[in-house]
Amino acid sequence: MTTSFPTSPTVVVTGAASLRGIGRATATRLAEHGWNVGLLDLDGGACADLAAELHDRFGVEAHGVGADVVDRGAVQAAVDELEAKLPPLTALANIAGVSSPVPYLELDADEWRRVMSINLDGVHNVSQRVAQSLVRSGVGRIVSLSSVSAQRGGGTFSKTPYSVAKAGVIGLMRSLARELGEFGVTANAIAPGPIDTDIMGGTLTDERKEELAEDLLIRRVGTPDDIGAAIEFLIGADAGWITGQTLNVDGGLYMH
Ligand code: NAD
Repeated sequence: MTTSFPTSPTVVVTGAASLRGIGRATATRLAEHGWNVGLLDLDGGACADLAAELHDRFGVEAHGVGADVVDRGAVQAAVDELEAKLPPLTALANIAGVSSPVPYLELDADEWRRVMSINLDGVHNVSQRVAQSLVRSGVGRIVSLSSVSAQRGGGTFSKTPYSVAKAGVIGLMRSLARELGEFGVTANAIAPGPIDTDIMGGTLTDERKEELAEDLLIRRVGTPDDIGAAIEFLIGADAGWITGQTLNVDGGLYMH
C-alpha cells in the first residue's frame, strides 16, 4: 500500500536547542519550507522558545518539549505531547548527540556508557517511539546523524565510543529500513564531516577550521545548513525510494 505524502507534513527534530547547532539550523530550514516542527532537546524552555519563533516567522505549527533521549519514559511522554499538539507525524530527524575526545587507553566505563547511551540508545529510543506512529500512517521518513568518524575511526575530534555509537547508528538505520519498508517508512543515515558548530570542544577558531579543511576536497568546514539541506532531501516526498543508505556530507573527506 502506498500512502501519499502529506501536503503539510510534521517532523520531529531532536537536538534542536543548541544555538549554533545542526538541529536548530535544520528545524529553521524545514519550518521555512513549510514543515510543521516538533522540537525535542534537554532544555524544554529553549525548545518552546524556538517553536514560538518558528511559528511566528513561518506560520507553521511548532511545539517544543524537553526530554533526555536516554530516558525512554521521557521520550514516550515527549513524543506523545508533540503528537497531541501537532498534525500527524511524517518524519524524524535524530540530531541530538554528544562528543567524546577521551583517548581509548584512558576511557572509563562511565564515559563509554554515557556516549553510547546518548548517541546510540537515544537514537533507538526516539526512533522506536516515532516509528510506532509512522507505520500507522503508512508513510514516513527517519534520518539519523552518524559521522565520518564512524567510517574513519575518529580523526576529527571524538574518539572510540563516539565512533562506535555512530557506526551503530548506521546499522540501526539499515535494520529499520529493512523492517519498516513494508509500512512505507524509509530510514537513512547522514555521515557529516567537520561542521562549524560548538560540539568539537567549543567554537572553532579560524586556525582550527583551516586545519580541518586541509583533509577535505572542498576546502572549507561544513555549515549546519549543509547538513540541514541533506536532511530536508532525505525526509522529503521525493526521497521515498531511498532507504538503508548512508549519505556522506563531508566535503569529500571519505569515499567508499
Ligand atoms: P551541538 O552540541 O550543537 O548539538 C547537540 C544537541 O544535542 C544539543 O542541543 C544538546 O542539548 C542535544 N543533546 C545532547 N544530549 C542530549 C540528550 N541526552 N537528550 C536530548 N538532547 C541532547 O552539536 P552539533 O554539532 O549540532 O551536533 C548535532 C549532531 O551532529 C550530533 O549527533 C553530532 O554527533 C553530529 N555530528 C556533528 C558533527 C560536527 O562536526 N559538528 C560531525 C558529525 C556528526
